[in-house]
Amino acid sequence: MNFTSTRGQTPPTDIDTALVAGLAPDGGLYVPGRIPALALDGPCDTLADTAHAVLAPFFEDSRLAGELAAMCNRAYAFPAPLRPLASDGNHLLELFHGPTAAFKDYAARFLAESLSRLREDADPPTTILVATSGDTGAAVAAAFHQRPGFRVLILYPDGRVSPRQAHGLGCWGDNVQACRVAGSFDDCQRLVKQALSDSGLRRRVALGSANSISLGRLLPQAAYYAHAALAFRATHGERLNFIVPTGNLGNACAAILARRMGLPIGKVRLATNANDTLPRFFAGADYAARPTRATLANAMDVGAPSNFERLRHWHESDEALRAAISATAIDDATIRDVIHEAPSRHGIVPCPHTATGLRVLETLRAEGDTRPWAVVATAHPAKFETIVEPLVGHAVDIPRALADSLARPASARAMPAAYATLVEALD
Ligand SMILES: *Cc1c(COP(=O)(O)O)cnc(C)c1O
Repeated sequence: MNFTSTRGQTPPTDIDTALVAGLAPDGGLYVPGRIPALALDGPCDTLADTAHAVLAPFFEDSRLAGELAAMCNRAYAFPAPLRPLASDGNHLLELFHGPTAAFKDYAARFLAESLSRLREDADPPTTILVATSGDTGAAVAAAFHQRPGFRVLILYPDGRVSPRQAHGLGCWGDNVQACRVAGSFDDCQRLVKQALSDSGLRRRVALGSANSISLGRLLPQAAYYAHAALAFRATHGERLNFIVPTGNLGNACAAILARRMGLPIGKVRLATNANDTLPRFFAGADYAARPTRATLANAMDVGAPSNFERLRHWHESDEALRAAISATAIDDATIRDVIHEAPSRHGIVPCPHTATGLRVLETLRAEGDTRPWAVVATAHPAKFETIVEPLVGHAVDIPRALADSLARPASARAMPAAYATLVEALD
């Protein structure tokens, strides 16, 4: 299968090249040349089996085709359970059972499995450079930790991630270095982009990226939507609809991709925090990126969702796109209310990101919607205990993997938001 760029100025290429490149040379995002139809009658036994079925058509002429099953077994080594909520007809798709307790673990691990095979004999080692608002950096660090041939440099905005997120970024050591930057997430992202487009630097240092525009992050996320929807249809005979807490739109694009492949997925609704670029667009305004605002759901603090370009590419017109998807913004005061009420309303304690999705669900139900919905639980609440615990009035149990990383010492290098300092760290 060929992969093309959303900007149309890059010759079609194979998946291996697209995975290593990350961003297409014309500055666009790689998309599959066609979306393969997947005819799966029933559910697969494990998430790894579903992942293999979903990813195989994309990898049919990859160097990795023969190893795909083994790669999936390693990357999807923990479940993504679909659990009924205490509120009727509602489900939670729990994507927080990985080593860093957020959904980004699945794709980061698959990307690491891919890149370590594709760049096997790469010398000098590749430096994976990531800007993170908290969760991406930890997932990428965990996935590449102690992998020969790779080094990871994480930039995060000092003081703007939760204390446990900061720990999860700084606790790896070995080939992973965390830098706390005196600036915002946008500053971190700007530094990373500048480095990735600095040809002089790239002649000296082999750089790679692992952010959500990378094809190797997008495709693997389709697996858990497919797995949940197939299992749901087998037991309920219906399509499952999803509400996706959204920032850069990577996770939601994967749900749309799975639906386009023919999997039994109904509607996809987006929940954002107060960063309402997408809700404004879906309500009819022209697309306009906005400055990022800090909110309680910090991993969704995005004013210019990078995967929007993919979503637009997959629809004939903005009208068609608006007809297919809708988005709702949820402010911090509402996030607090939802977390406070969730134990009695739904029988769960949500993280602030998941809370935005729950509120969209509550609104749909209040409007009389009777379809089966699953809210995507993007992170475990224990990662955001300073926000969640005062609202629910008790401590939240820490999952095993998170407890393990909290038990390790953590450190991060302080860095000004200055390009020269980053270059020094890379050299
Ligand atoms: C990254 C993240 C999101 C947003 O996902 P996108 O793919 O950027 O839309 C939502 N919730 C959590 C917990 C995250 O880490």
